[in-house]
Amino acid sequence: MEKLELIGKTLEEIETFMIENNQSKFRAKQVYNWIYLKSVNSFDKMSDLPLQARELLKERCIISSVILKEKQVSKDGTIKFLFELKDGNLIESVLMRFDNRANLTACISTQVGCPMGCSFCATAKLGFKRNLSTSEIIEQIFLIQAETGLKVTNIVYMGQGEPLLNFENLISSIKVFREQFQVGARRITVSTCGIIPKIKELAKLNFQSTLAISLHAPDNEKRTQIMPISAKYPFEELIDTLKSYTQTTGRRVTVEYVLMRDINDSIEDAKKLAFAISKLKSNVNLIIYNQNEKSPYKKPLKENILKFKYILEASGKKVTIRLERGSDIDAACGQLSSKFAK
Ligand code: SAH
Repeated sequence: MEKLELIGKTLEEIETFMIENNQSKFRAKQVYNWIYLKSVNSFDKMSDLPLQARELLKERCIISSVILKEKQVSKDGTIKFLFELKDGNLIESVLMRFDNRANLTACISTQVGCPMGCSFCATAKLGFKRNLSTSEIIEQIFLIQAETGLKVTNIVYMGQGEPLLNFENLISSIKVFREQFQVGARRITVSTCGIIPKIKELAKLNFQSTLAISLHAPDNEKRTQIMPISAKYPFEELIDTLKSYTQTTGRRVTVEYVLMRDINDSIEDAKKLAFAISKLKSNVNLIIYNQNEKSPYKKPLKENILKFKYILEASGKKVTIRLERGSDIDAACGQLSSKFAK
């Protein structure tokens, strides 16, 4: 008989299991707390459960099916985790602590590989294997907490894959993070390269987490050259969809823009971008391109970064420059490229 996987289960579901197995209902709450509040990954450690209950759980359940294969720590304290899924596929997640803040941000994956084919991204080079299940998404946070003993306070869906192409599991994982893991909606960010119909669905759901959009170019022509998705969902239509999104949800979006030298970092690009998003309720997050040997793109020059930022700010936008984290261990944006299992 296949074992029941507990991660992702609600308290009610664990209660049902306990009752069906002649345990008292209140044992379920203990198991629930061990998993979600203490991130304990072994029934033996559930010390307030009677031995017989622990034996039953060991026989009939597993906590999580994903296993931690490897952990790399960067000079800046960023940790990259390599996880192996039940079918042998590999995914990566990253844990970051930003200076002077108590926040711990985990960056998680939603797919094995990625189908979007953005020309500058290392994950794209892997191609696409499959969507992650809801529990495979959740287990990344669970295992990071179990491994480090720390509580993740912020979650960004910015790892491998396109979250909006795994829509149902994205939404159900967010529900678990909010309800079981007690992470507030506002501390969750979903990043997308712009799947228009799914952004409309998010609006209908009155999505209250932050939506970040990987724009990376100031117009459709440039965008299509580096992001094939723009041929299917054009730039102007994307901006219009985002405008309606902000109206429906009342939430500002984050425009992400990876600056690449001589590709999209000129003064003209900045002016065009400022104009394109002038009526979009948004903040801008500039990302400095992380170079990798598989790609010809380069980091922008420092002075171009500052000019670019200045032009957007002069147009009235709030602009932040994303701190580069973990690039020495290939854990920075666009560097997640775990090989699949053979
Ligand atoms: N597919 C989603 C989620 C991935 S988020 C999306 O496109 O938004 C990862 C972010 O890192 C995206 O904004 C992506 O465009 C960006 N990125 C990819 N390669 C990068 C690189 N080499 N340097 C900096 N950012 C990169």
